[in-house]
Amino acid sequence: MELSNRITALTNGGSDGWDVFYKARDLKKSGRPIIELTIGEHDIGTHRDILEAMGQSARGGHTGYAAVPGTDTLRKTVAQRIKTRTGVPTNASNILITPGGQSALFAAHMAVLDPGDLALYCDPYYATYPGTIRAAGGIDHPIHCRPELDFQPTYEDLDASAKGARSLLVNSPNNPTGVVYDRATWTDIAKVCQNHNLWLISDEVYDTQVWAGCHISPRSLEGMEKRTLVIGSMSKSHAMTGSRVGWICGPETVIEQLINLATHTTYGVPGYIQDAADFALNQGNEDELKVAAPFRRRRDIAMNLIAGQTVVRAVPCSGAMYMMLDIRATGLSGDVFAHVLLDSRQIAVMPGESFGQSAAGHVRVAMTVNDDQFKQALESLLAFAAEQAETT
Ligand code: PMP
Repeated sequence: MELSNRITALTNGGSDGWDVFYKARDLKKSGRPIIELTIGEHDIGTHRDILEAMGQSARGGHTGYAAVPGTDTLRKTVAQRIKTRTGVPTNASNILITPGGQSALFAAHMAVLDPGDLALYCDPYYATYPGTIRAAGGIDHPIHCRPELDFQPTYEDLDASAKGARSLLVNSPNNPTGVVYDRATWTDIAKVCQNHNLWLISDEVYDTQVWAGCHISPRSLEGMEKRTLVIGSMSKSHAMTGSRVGWICGPETVIEQLINLATHTTYGVPGYIQDAADFALNQGNEDELKVAAPFRRRRDIAMNLIAGQTVVRAVPCSGAMYMMLDIRATGLSGDVFAHVLLDSRQIAVMPGESFGQSAAGHVRVAMTVNDDQFKQALESLLAFAAEQAETT
């Protein structure tokens, strides 16, 4: 029996550059001491107070179907948080609670794309972006962002692809590059969206992890509120990746339609998970800073080590839990570098090519192991890069 093109086209049938990750996992299972700097999973778990709130809610009976749009309490808390951070008036009716940011990304594209519509996204990109657009029936079109401009998109490149497109998906602080878009970039993005009547889908799941500059939500820019859908999540800010809880913030008319989509797909998010998220958000900024602090520290450790050599260049890492390293001076592709590094030094990093062609010749390092291990891994990676550069 034939499957649909829609489902078979999701990954284009390939592993999309994740073979280093799977190889590292297999080596680790066979007992090899691999240091994994691959995926965006914290090395701490969800705080026990949040788990306690979750348990209390479940034991208290919040285990039946929850309201599909999200509980009133959590929708209000998320709306208030967005209003406080951005200044944009936001109510519960602007919020849909979703099972994580990924589900929100899919729903947002379902809301704005008809089958065959052109949907833009910035390359390098988070691995699921092209497949998410295709799953929603869109035609995925990358905007190449250049390493020499620290992977920030330019007005010219956006404008050149925007004719006839329906939407643009952006992500700042960025996975995989660690770059935080500056105000000039946001102004260009807003101008292109307005000139070409595009929806803007702004993935802000790393908004609590900013090390330099500041996070700007484009929904707060003039004329953008009515055309922007913001994606948020508890995964990164509160180390709640496994709880699957996030949101979309947008115009009320869009949220009303998205509630219909949720009714026919997810049927909402478990009530006790939402209560735990609400509890976590009400603890204030300090807990978020604690979750973010290890990445800030490790970023400083890495920057110091990188400053002491000349082969590897770091893309300025201003946010998120990743660093993108330019390893082109070794003469190797990101893919070969990552494979040989794993084989010879038991360190697993992601090839830049897994995140699109713009990141060729780079590797992404997730700062997700303890400080000592991280330092040791970085020292080893840099020594490996120096050896490779000498032999070319
Ligand atoms: N967007 C980006 C940029 C991500 O890196 C991730 C997860 N790594 C997500 C969205 C999805 O996160 P979640 O579904 O856990 O909220």
